[in-house]
Amino acid sequence: MNLDDLFVPADPEVMERERLKAKELKRSAWWKSQIGRGVCHYCGSRVHPSELTMDHVVPVIRGGRSARDNLVPACQACNREKRCLSSSQWRIRVEEKRAAGGEGRS
Ligand SMILES: [Zn+2]
Repeated sequence: MNLDDLFVPADPEVMERERLKAKELKRSAWWKSQIGRGVCHYCGSRVHPSELTMDHVVPVIRGGRSARDNLVPACQACNREKRCLSSSQWRIRVEEKRAAGGEGRS
């Protein structure tokens, strides 16, 4: 049992507000420069900007906000994987990915 897997889901109204904020930030120059680097925040793979997704480091449902310090560009593989894992499992995976250097991935 892992403490950080226990959480109270965020209020639906709060989630909706954060989703809208994320949508707005997606159009910002700040976000364009984030994805413009073409690198996944988690695995370090080089990814075409159009393939990068906006990821909440702390998911909105866990109380994360749509703020610059909680939003990172993630490749679709990481995004999918992150959704399937608990936050503690995901942290371990990110360590593994970084140790592997993000090389040799398609
Ligand atoms: Zn990735």
